[in-house]
Amino acid sequence: MPNDLPPILCSPTNRSSVALTRASLFKFVGLLAGVFLLACCSLVYVAQNLDQAKEVDSAFYTKKAVESLEKSLRSTVKDYAFWGDAYKHLHIEVDPDWAYVRQNVGTTLFTDFGFQGVFVVNDVNRTVYSVVKGERASVEVEQWLEQSIDGILEKAREGAETETPTTTFINVGGVPALVAAAAITPGTDPTVLADDRSSSVLIFVDILDSAKLATIGRDFGVDGLHMATPDDGPLVSGYPLGETGAAGSLHWSPHKPGLQLLALGLPLVGFAALLVCLMTLVILRRTTAAAQALDASYSSLRSSQADLATSEARFRDVVEASSDWVWEMDAGWRFTYLSERFEDVTGLSREAWIGAAMDDLLRTELGTLSQWLSIPNRRPNISVQCRYVDTNGNERITRLSARAMASGGFRGTATDVTEEVEARRRIEFLSQHDALTGLPNRTRLQEFLDGKLKAMPTVEQPLVMLSLDLDRFKPVNDLLGHAAGDLVLNQVSSRLADCVRHGDLVARVGGDEFVLILTDVSSQEEVEALCRRLIETIEQPIQIHEQEVFVSASIGIAMAPNDACEATELLRYADIALYEAKAGGRNTWRFYAGDMNARIIERRRLESDLRFAIKHGELRLHFQPRYRISDGQMVGAEALVRWQHPERGLIPPDTFIPIAEESGLILSLSDWVIDTACRCAARWPEHLFVSVNLSPSEFKRGNLIERVQKALHNSGIAPARVELEITENVMLEDAPGALELMRTLKRLGVRIAMDDFGTGYSSLSYLRSFPFDGLKIDRSFLNNLVGSDDESIIQAIVGLGRALSLTVTAEGIETAEHLTLLKAVSCDEGQGFFLSRPLDTDAFNLLVKARKNTDIKSRV
Ligand code: C2E
Ligand code: CA
Ligand code: CA
Repeated sequence: MPNDLPPILCSPTNRSSVALTRASLFKFVGLLAGVFLLACCSLVYVAQNLDQAKEVDSAFYTKKAVESLEKSLRSTVKDYAFWGDAYKHLHIEVDPDWAYVRQNVGTTLFTDFGFQGVFVVNDVNRTVYSVVKGERASVEVEQWLEQSIDGILEKAREGAETETPTTTFINVGGVPALVAAAAITPGTDPTVLADDRSSSVLIFVDILDSAKLATIGRDFGVDGLHMATPDDGPLVSGYPLGETGAAGSLHWSPHKPGLQLLALGLPLVGFAALLVCLMTLVILRRTTAAAQALDASYSSLRSSQADLATSEARFRDVVEASSDWVWEMDAGWRFTYLSERFEDVTGLSREAWIGAAMDDLLRTELGTLSQWLSIPNRRPNISVQCRYVDTNGNERITRLSARAMASGGFRGTATDVTEEVEARRRIEFLSQHDALTGLPNRTRLQEFLDGKLKAMPTVEQPLVMLSLDLDRFKPVNDLLGHAAGDLVLNQVSSRLADCVRHGDLVARVGGDEFVLILTDVSSQEEVEALCRRLIETIEQPIQIHEQEVFVSASIGIAMAPNDACEATELLRYADIALYEAKAGGRNTWRFYAGDMNARIIERRRLESDLRFAIKHGELRLHFQPRYRISDGQMVGAEALVRWQHPERGLIPPDTFIPIAEESGLILSLSDWVIDTACRCAARWPEHLFVSVNLSPSEFKRGNLIERVQKALHNSGIAPARVELEITENVMLEDAPGALELMRTLKRLGVRIAMDDFGTGYSSLSYLRSFPFDGLKIDRSFLNNLVGSDDESIIQAIVGLGRALSLTVTAEGIETAEHLTLLKAVSCDEGQGFFLSRPLDTDAFNLLVKARKNTDIKSRV
């Protein structure tokens, strides 16, 4: 990985970018300083050269000026000296009038030419004519010039022949003066005759004072032309006037362009240097900052380089430590890398699979993996579940996540989720199925039902719901134990499942309650046929530990869309129909009908009415006398409750007792019955007992003992005169509890009779083990009496009762024949419409008083 870094970052140097940048910058500044120095030197050099050139120029022009001055003076003096008139009036005879007054050689020479001195020296070197500063004067020339001019005069006379004037620079009182002298000759004037005397000499003196020198300099472009003074210092350059410079030296202050250049250029260079310095400073700061940033990023890069190595090691550790395997694949969907874990997890060889097509190993639910990976805009954080076959040939499930690589292809991880998926599937199954039977449970039913109802069943293709409840299942559980009960439920479940078609649903929704959903049944006949089949199969004996068990079923039917189109409604209607089926005698089926619902509503109303009735004394007690069959004597009476409804009249107990039992009103109802029955019977003759019916639910709930005790106490009746009738259902619900309760009741002194004997399950064992005093043969035995078989059954029951020392009572004696039969089999006691209908209190009291015990004697 470090090889991926740019080489500069891998260089071993420890110098920071800041140091590097500073060093480079200092070098650059040094270079710049050199350049500036060079520029300065060049400037000075150029300036010097310039100045020197100017100096040379100035010297040249000064010379030219002096020469020009000399030349001009020479020519002027020549004009005046080599002139016949001058010869006549200044040599031959000095005529001041001609010379001065007539302005021939007078004031004008001063005013026009600036000659401060004009002299004429005669042949004996005497000054004969003087004009000083334009004024006639009488001064000797040598006196005025403060020096001898013999040399000049001689030279002037020498030039007479050739008419050549002479000029000389002299110093007059520290001021240079140019003296021009020329011998006065007749010139070209033929009228003037030369004498033989030595020539007179005309002398012009031009005093070069500073003003005049400045003017000359200006005319010749030489600045500050002046006489050298000690202030000028040692003269480097100058122009000596006269031979060996006796007249002094001319000096000038030339305009110094080099100096100017320096004056202008050096500050500029300095300024530029300053500017560059400032800029350098700024650049230094900026580059230092940038370099610092670079250093920071460099050091962070170095540290990230280290981090990279750490993270690579970490990645390797994680890859090998994790249960996932890591894969990479090229653009041709072939594995290019598989981590070591691949072999551990799949058992397959890495070598064999690297280079192999990915699709050959893994497939998704929806297609090949390459198809999935090719989905455009596939979200990279979404994983896909794949299946593959491991080295043992088992199918395994793996969750694959993939990320596209920049170089093409993909890489990612694969997590084995076989167990997880299995567990989830199991949980899902368990959450939707009943653990005991494996049938779908209520949750699954709801789901299935919702799905089917969404598909909109039609009248032609209805959705049929059967609500099925096992009859006589409870006793199996109680008598044979829960394990047997479970076996029965399993048996029933598989029988039910066998009856329906594929696509239908059988669900267990309660202890012995099932719901079947059928989708392929179209006619009512078909449904009825199915119900018949269901009941028949369920009624087949179930073998449990060498014992045959019989159960049956009631079925309620509701259909969509006819009855309802909503799952909860449909379930409710099927339950109502089931209720009706059970009420209709069990072992049968009922289709839901609109009025069933009305009946349910009716029941609700009855229930609330009953609550009111119990409180407000609408209950009545009727008594049905019970006779001893042998002598026809009344031995007691059974108390039978009625409800005197203000609108409906007298309602029989069959209508409201079930409602009272279901709603829990039975306790207060029964309280009233026991209490009233005991009070009434307490007023009867002592030999008459009263028999009171108890509901099985009273055994389960409520403090029966206390209630009975209280009734006995309140009425003051002898407990032996009270009989309690219970059905065998009491024992079926909770046999040990019932036994305990019955023993306690017996200790109170009351008698206990088994009611409705022969209708229930297995009365015999109960009779033996429970403390009964009597049994009442159900009226169905007498009512359905057809042949001698039934007679013998009654006879057997009577015999059984006798064997167990129980008083046997026959119910439902409706005819004389019934009575004859019972007498023939020596049944102990009997009651029935033939003997007496249930009577209200008044009628019963009348009967007791009037007829005494003679009633049935005639009939027996
Ligand atoms: P049950 O205990 O079997 O009561 C006897 C029923 O048979 C009474 O009906 C009675 O009128 C009727 N019966 C009597 N002789 C004949 C006959 O010769 N032929 C026919 N076909 N029927 C006869 P009832 O009074 O309608 O009572 C029905 C059931 O209501 C009773 O059956 C009993 O189980 C229950 N019951 C009545 N009163 C009470 C009560 O106070 N408490 C409780 N828990 N249940 C009661
Ligand atoms: Ca009874
Ligand atoms: Ca009965």
